[in-house]
Amino acid sequence: MPETYQNYIKGRWAAARSGRVFENRNPANGELLGLFPDSGPEDVNDAVAAARAAFASWRVYPAPKRGEILFRFGQLLRERKDEIARLMTMEMGKVLKEAGGDVQEGIDMAFYMGGEGRRLFGFVTPVELPNKSGMAVRDPIGVVGVITPWNFPIAIPSWKILAALICGNTIVFKPAKDTPLCATKFVELLTEAGVPEGVVNLVHGSGPNVGMPIVQHPDVAVITFTGSNETGREVNVEAARRIKRVSLELGGKNAIMVMDDADLDLAVDGILWSAFGTSGQRCTAASRIIAHKAIRKELEERLVARAEALRLGDGLLPTTDVGPVINDAAIQRIDGYTQIARKEGAAVLTGGAIAREGALAKGSFYRPTLYSNVRPEMRVAQEEIFGPCASIIEVASLEEAIQVNNGVAYGLSSSLYTQDINRVQRAMRDVATGILYINAGTIGAEIQLPFGGTRGTGNGHREAGLGAIDTFTEWKSIYIDYSGTLQRAQIDSN
Ligand code: NDP
Repeated sequence: MPETYQNYIKGRWAAARSGRVFENRNPANGELLGLFPDSGPEDVNDAVAAARAAFASWRVYPAPKRGEILFRFGQLLRERKDEIARLMTMEMGKVLKEAGGDVQEGIDMAFYMGGEGRRLFGFVTPVELPNKSGMAVRDPIGVVGVITPWNFPIAIPSWKILAALICGNTIVFKPAKDTPLCATKFVELLTEAGVPEGVVNLVHGSGPNVGMPIVQHPDVAVITFTGSNETGREVNVEAARRIKRVSLELGGKNAIMVMDDADLDLAVDGILWSAFGTSGQRCTAASRIIAHKAIRKELEERLVARAEALRLGDGLLPTTDVGPVINDAAIQRIDGYTQIARKEGAAVLTGGAIAREGALAKGSFYRPTLYSNVRPEMRVAQEEIFGPCASIIEVASLEEAIQVNNGVAYGLSSSLYTQDINRVQRAMRDVATGILYINAGTIGAEIQLPFGGTRGTGNGHREAGLGAIDTFTEWKSIYIDYSGTLQRAQIDSN
């Protein structure tokens, strides 16, 4: 019998009120990993009520003490890193080393945000009237609804939940249905670290039955969401009706620009890692290679040789370079893009097929794929594929490369390979994405810098670093008049 897991509401583990469950399966071989509560709006109501009640005491619990809980959580996560990484590989497919990196991001975030408990800086500033002072402090906002995807099942919840907690907010967490086990482990460790009853609540279930009721609930003050543009738009519209703060982290169509003076060995390594790491299922994955015409052909030849040497398989095996994609629906969508590429006149240099032979038969595997002869306006060069597929686009100059790079609906991550400091400076000025890498691929963000993007990638908020603190706090400006008389700003000071 597979294990049955539960929701966590008001400090207690419990089934969904309806008693319904859903299955969680390993995308590498279809193995059943467990049953999870298929919750509904009634469970969301319970969780929001618990979070709302807990906010009264959590908001005034000293921030350095909140930080100590996060330090304990970071320590526990470090002790359990290997175990949770294995579960992650089984649950969503990424290879074990990458799963370890995902957990490590959670550890890093715990210590970073734990330290923030002794900062959370506001400021004091001079005021225009005598015997009066002015300051701005950060207040927590209330109940934060956290809706996360499956591709970073520990890192993304960490970015959101740990930042919201240190600021003094309480949480209702709905993880993706594809990764409920990692979310359960995450919440178990938070409780073990000492998060008080009601401060963090976990409700498993689907987007429409759990996610949307969280967005619509009048007592949820902030929504932080990572996922697709379609869902993000829906979430934003529903939240706007209630004038709710929403932080959206959506898709990407990230590019690596390779100039004629680039170190090609370095560029090839960076492209393979960025395009095929996590089977291309990262919002920062490189899905466009913008190559200078002088090196395009050589780059293609090298990339094809290296892509064909990548070994597909179960991410738990040390011999595996590329794991499965998340599920069969994803396989169909990705393969659909290969058909679109062919129809639009692109060449499929390698891959472009579902892999079914031998041990791969029971899993969801797609061959690392390179499209060539791609023009910037083609669908494969414009739309997020979210699979191991990259399009190669030829350009004649850095200016053209940057124009192509910026010419998509998303603006998350870009990369430039060149040895020329002047080109680097021009890219720093003109690239219109939230993240830019020089002589490294499009992935590899660290938690102390803001993470997020421009245009369709989001709505202006940033995750991680101090950007996250801005998302989860409200500024309060305080004036103290100790003159003992009525002093009118803008009138008595002039
Ligand atoms: P979704 O946007 O559908 O899912 C993200 C989260 O939102 C999940 O927890 C999901 O729940 C939930 N959700 C779904 N529908 C609603 C709703 N109506 N209201 C509130 N919450 C909802 O993305 P998918 O996981 O289905 O992936 C689809 C595509 O999204 C990918 O192929 C990729 O293009 C993009 N994506 C981008 C990511 C990024 O990092 N920027 C991450 C993941 C996906 P449930 O799991 O139950 O569906």
